[in-house]
Amino acid sequence: MRAFQLVGWQQPPELREVPVPEPGPGQVLVKVGGAGACHSDLHLMEAPGPPPGFATEPPFTLGHENAGWVESPGPGVTGFAPGDPVIVYGPWGCGTCANCREGKENYCQTTRGQGGGLGGGHDGGMAEYLLVPAARFLIPLGTLDPRQAAPLSDAGLTSYHAVKRSVHLLGAGSTAVVIGVGGLGQMAVQMVRALSAATTVIAVDTDADKLETARRMGADEVVLPGEDAVTRIKDMTGQQGAQLVLDMVGADPTLRLAAQVARVLGHLTIVGLGGGALPVNFSSPAHECSVASPYWGSLPELMEVITLARQQKIEMLVERFPLESASEAYQLLHDGKIRGRAVITPHP
Ligand code: NAD
Ligand code: ZN
Ligand code: ZN
Repeated sequence: MRAFQLVGWQQPPELREVPVPEPGPGQVLVKVGGAGACHSDLHLMEAPGPPPGFATEPPFTLGHENAGWVESPGPGVTGFAPGDPVIVYGPWGCGTCANCREGKENYCQTTRGQGGGLGGGHDGGMAEYLLVPAARFLIPLGTLDPRQAAPLSDAGLTSYHAVKRSVHLLGAGSTAVVIGVGGLGQMAVQMVRALSAATTVIAVDTDADKLETARRMGADEVVLPGEDAVTRIKDMTGQQGAQLVLDMVGADPTLRLAAQVARVLGHLTIVGLGGGALPVNFSSPAHECSVASPYWGSLPELMEVITLARQQKIEMLVERFPLESASEAYQLLHDGKIRGRAVITPHP
């Protein structure tokens, strides 16, 4: 089969011919419907070596945001039949530590967890078939199309988790600021809308088209970053700042903005891996404002995200690309030319 692989650090990925994997006991082979192109893959392609926690060296297949159809369940697998549409939970843990038993395999406590997860040291979904090591990583999609649903497993799940942990702050009259409304940020805007109808959502992005999309997806206000961004957001919040600020970029300028507009007792949540740093001292961020850096989300949260999609409360703007155009899709993402999410569809 064809697979789009990272072949070496700081080398362009390549489409290569590799064997179709055989599902062993407990494993499931999935025919890939969609594999989303996430900005994290660009960070990975630019990295000089394996990020912390990475299990293996290249070559490995990219793509950690996948959905498809069960092709063949391995020996002993029950509950799934060939043809079933499924979404793949990406952070593969050990399944037996305390966090994994709560479904929080994104925070597996053992080294037996599959470091780096799929598409991050283990073969991912930018191939015709994907080997999933355990059936518990598959969630049935029901009537949702895997080619459309794939981004829910990362852009959707990561945003949902980042919003849900702060939902107690989002009462009537509250404000949430989402900085960077690309693939993840557009989802975050909708997650705030879905979990707190009474919250004002402010979207911030350097790209005016992205701001227009964010508005269509439920943002009440849109702001271009720049000298007056802080003043404008302060004015929109009675000079108090926002209860929740989600930084989906994580670069120095966005972190600086985030720290200036997060209110006393608020949450400043860093989701983007932009490599910036946030100075913390007694007076900045605001008093008792908590800073957190959530990673991906839990298995039960992925089920909740699928429910929201089935209820049509969230929607991903998907642009489909065949497997042979994966390089082109990443180039467009790099250049800021993808409106929502690029999804590679090996079986269109
Ligand atoms: P994307 O390229 O689709 O979107 C990024 C958006 O940020 C774009 O709309 C861009 O115009 C905007 N932007 C860039 N610089 C900006 C600035 N200075 N100010 C305001 N807006 C700016 O990327 P994505 O796939 O949505 O990923 C976003 C980030 O989240 C990446 O860093 C990615 O690695 C990270 N990520 C983190 C997790 C996690 O678990 N924490 C999971 C997935 C992705
Ligand atoms: Zn990702
Ligand atoms: Zn574990």
